[in-house]
Amino acid sequence: MAETEHRPTNFIRQIIDGDLASGLHNTVKTRFPPEPNGFLHIGHAKSICLNFGIAQDYTGTCNLRFDDTNPAKEDISFVNAIKEDVSWLGFAWDGEERYSSNYFDQLHGYAVELIEKGLAYVDFSTQEEMREMRGTLKAPGTNSPYRDTDIDTNKREFEKMTAGEYDEGQCCLRAKIDMASSFMCMRDPVIYRVKHAHHHQTGDKWCVYPMYDFTHCISDAIEGISHSLCTLEFQDNRRLYDWVIENISIECTPRQYEFSRLNLEYTVLSKRRLIQLVEENHVEGWDDPRMPTIAGLRRRGYTPGSIREFCTRIGVTKMDNMVEMSMLEACIRDDLNVNAPRAMAVLDPIKLVIENLPEGESITIEAPNHPNDESMGTRTLSFGREIWIEAEDFRESANKKFKRLVLDKEVRLRNAFVVKALRAEKDANDKVTTVYCSYDPDTLGKDPADGRKVKGVIHWVDGATGAPAQFRLYDRLFNVPNPAAEESFTDAINPASLEVKEGWVEPGLDNRIPKIGAWQFERTGYFCLDKHSTSDALVFNRTVGLRDTWAKIEG
Ligand code: ATP
Ligand code: MG
Repeated sequence: MAETEHRPTNFIRQIIDGDLASGLHNTVKTRFPPEPNGFLHIGHAKSICLNFGIAQDYTGTCNLRFDDTNPAKEDISFVNAIKEDVSWLGFAWDGEERYSSNYFDQLHGYAVELIEKGLAYVDFSTQEEMREMRGTLKAPGTNSPYRDTDIDTNKREFEKMTAGEYDEGQCCLRAKIDMASSFMCMRDPVIYRVKHAHHHQTGDKWCVYPMYDFTHCISDAIEGISHSLCTLEFQDNRRLYDWVIENISIECTPRQYEFSRLNLEYTVLSKRRLIQLVEENHVEGWDDPRMPTIAGLRRRGYTPGSIREFCTRIGVTKMDNMVEMSMLEACIRDDLNVNAPRAMAVLDPIKLVIENLPEGESITIEAPNHPNDESMGTRTLSFGREIWIEAEDFRESANKKFKRLVLDKEVRLRNAFVVKALRAEKDANDKVTTVYCSYDPDTLGKDPADGRKVKGVIHWVDGATGAPAQFRLYDRLFNVPNPAAEESFTDAINPASLEVKEGWVEPGLDNRIPKIGAWQFERTGYFCLDKHSTSDALVFNRTVGLRDTWAKIEG
């Protein structure tokens, strides 16, 4: 991890400082507990940076624990994707990855312990009946007729549940707490249910599976987690977390602390919605570069450092808020501006013919890879009779504000010569296709000798040596800042979130991929090669433009 990454303190670090000072703990143990039912997103990155970051800074450890209690929705492919993403972000978990399912035997034993203590019972009420008995936020619940079943019967029934003698939904195991509690989660929550499902880790061994609230706290205790950090929606559940730990015979008492989730404008960060985007083919897959997933951001050209920096800048609080997309983009722009080598690409080409340069002749030019960093070295470009420039960089006539190429006027081609436009050729639709020019051979790396002022600079690609390429330009995936608040969030999808351009890049780029993975294509933005790119058909993703365009979009 770069030494420049410093983390400001937050309320969780203050709690840890206090616990270390008071001697409550002498080491810090955290965990990151993803459910393997989808890919990780930028919200998870916040949790990852918090949990692993704390472990690093306090020379403690952080476990990666798959919270795999819902076999129907989980898959080993998600397990692998999650491991890849956490590693890519630059973090190492302690030992092997863990699974809640590693503890199914112990969890089952603790459930039996609760039954034996008269603190759990098997309920045969229907889901409908249970819903009615739960009460509301204002009205207390009512006791189930099974609440006072004797311990032996409960033990026998739980054994039968475990042996697969009941159907899904026929019965469940509930903790016996308080049907009048003001915390709904304490009104005799379900802790085990019947599920005749194959599990990616435990196969067909189990047909009862523990619920999240029962599993999580016990897994934390088994692993000796000191600080169990989760998002605010689990605030009420902390009562249940503590109740379970208090009522089973386990040594360790981990404590849960809650922080606010990351919400990001113009996207969705809920796995349910991301799954829908993928399954309904609104995007190309989990790693579509428009997705807020770690895999999508990686394919888009984000660096691990830029995502960690984002997580530092947003901080950790208990306040819910919505973070602007421009904050995320600023982090990658700051990184790439310093670390990405420059190159040239033309996204919407028209041809320039340099009439005073004979056909077949070409001039070799050395160009710096970075204007402010000599250590990045130089590259060799050829400059021949035919050159590509952007269509928007030429006008037949224009006022002085247009500092690009105009008929009868001069402009500098970046890293090369000053050229003058002589005449233009158009197609049947009146669109310029070719501009005929002359070049001034005495202007390589210097101003014209006679003091002529040439202000504009445009980028170009050599026609003879440049490589054809496809460019994918991405816009926000949704038209509204908070798509999750819409009745149907998929109706708010931006139909123009992907624009594909066919143009040219300077030669050899795919043979010199920079360490950081991305280039700045001068004047057009930061780009990286897409995973579908081949040397015969180059495909570039635009990571981000050179400037913040969000203000413009909203205005
Ligand atoms: P989702 O709501 O996207 O389905 P989740 O909480 O169900 O998320 P998990 O795989 O259970 O997904 O999450 C693993 C960890 O990441 C949890 O500790 C969770 O609190 C945290 N996490 C999930 N989403 C966010 C977010 N937007 N911001 C911060 N932390 C998050
Ligand atoms: Mg969850």
